[in-house]
Amino acid sequence: MSNMKRYEFWFLTGSQHLYGEETLRQVEEHSKIMVDGLNNSGLLPCKVVYKPIVTTPDQITKVIKEANYDDNCAGIITWMHTFSPSKMWINGFTLLEKPYCHFHTQFNREIPDEEIDMDFMNLNQSAHGDREHGFIAARLRMPRKIVVGYWEDEDVIDKIGNWMRSAVGVAVSKNLKVMRFGDNMRQVAVTEGDKVEAQIKLGWQVNTVAVGDLVQVINEVTDKQVDDLIEEYKEKYTIATDNMDAVRYQAKLEIAMKKLLEAEGCGAFTNTFEDLHGMEQLPGLATQRLTEAGYGYGGEGDWKVSAMTHIMKQMAEGLEGGTAFMEDYTYDLTKGRELSLGAHMLEVCPSLAGDKPRIEVHPLGIGGKADPARLVFKGHPGDAIVVSLVDMGGRFRLIVQDIEAVDPIYEMPNLPVARVMWKAKPDLLTGAECWILAGGAHHTVLSYALNARHMQDFAEMMGIEFVHIHKDTKVDDFKQLLFLQDIAWKLNR
Ligand code: MN
Repeated sequence: MSNMKRYEFWFLTGSQHLYGEETLRQVEEHSKIMVDGLNNSGLLPCKVVYKPIVTTPDQITKVIKEANYDDNCAGIITWMHTFSPSKMWINGFTLLEKPYCHFHTQFNREIPDEEIDMDFMNLNQSAHGDREHGFIAARLRMPRKIVVGYWEDEDVIDKIGNWMRSAVGVAVSKNLKVMRFGDNMRQVAVTEGDKVEAQIKLGWQVNTVAVGDLVQVINEVTDKQVDDLIEEYKEKYTIATDNMDAVRYQAKLEIAMKKLLEAEGCGAFTNTFEDLHGMEQLPGLATQRLTEAGYGYGGEGDWKVSAMTHIMKQMAEGLEGGTAFMEDYTYDLTKGRELSLGAHMLEVCPSLAGDKPRIEVHPLGIGGKADPARLVFKGHPGDAIVVSLVDMGGRFRLIVQDIEAVDPIYEMPNLPVARVMWKAKPDLLTGAECWILAGGAHHTVLSYALNARHMQDFAEMMGIEFVHIHKDTKVDDFKQLLFLQDIAWKLNR
């Protein structure tokens, strides 16, 4: 499920005819050198595509229309080497539907002391031209990323690369279909939400498939298909059970669910232990395998976390660390060393694993079905984020918390599920208070690969509310922020 490489970003350099042909030729040459430099840096996840410089309103409008309609174009990057009067951009910008990054850089790093004259000044005037360009985006209230710095510096290129990942998240979101096997868990509020609003705002098509239809596809899976998949399991995981019938049933579930997801072009799915009519086990290993392949998943019908899991997995493609559906389960409240233990009934993605996952079969306390096979492992240590999308009624709020995952401090030999242990920022007590104030769910997406900035950029481009709980967060300030944002978002409707 690889998406990153298909996307490209168009590099638009603005200018005008005031300076004569020779200057425009140099602008073009410099712009091409910069695009090549960015692409050859090896630091960007997607390709930057040079577009001929734009010098008139009609050219600007035309290239923006083309960007809107090109499915591979995930965003535009603009740079004003010279002065590009910004009224020329209004008609194009009011049509722009793609993510937009304003790259405020300069072709030369240093001012050439001896050579500098007015010709040099008129060519190298980003400090001037990018301010004119920035004003019109501010005036139009456009969501945009502003990256400032020298174009050959790694930290600057990294900022563009990180934004590209967020922009790819936008493209994935706008094309996402989520398959629901069964409804939301009865009576649960935070996993509910307005699916029409989600489609309007985020592009998600969230639709149900009858569990009975899934059962029919499960029954069509052949022994040979299952045999082949079991061989793959044996290569990748430690088989730590004698109950191979239970494992084989999960293989059948994996094959059947994948078939339905592929047939409908879905990138994410949900199910619920309350609706397994005709199924022998709750999908455990099967779900873990599908999430490892890139599908999003949410337990108990949680389609919001499922969609976010898929989007974030796609944003993180090629980065180290893993991204998975997670749930805050229980705490260790030892004073001064407070920790969260995250897990789920079964379905944590093995991309988080810090050891080789073991296939085990154990009873499940709820659902009244046969003992399901699942992968058991522990998450690896490292900085990470947990992310929750909630429906506040009239708007979505994306909540991000920084965490530090640790090597689990207990063995927990009787815990039959994958587990991750972490320190919440700024500390568990403050962090949990803020999380609960913001209405964050028990379900999250945990990612070692992405950071809060990726999610902030994503939220801005999608036009949804963003809040961040981090090492410097204070409860009083955070309350004030939520209060003010609530007013702002109500006015915004
Ligand atoms: Mn759950």
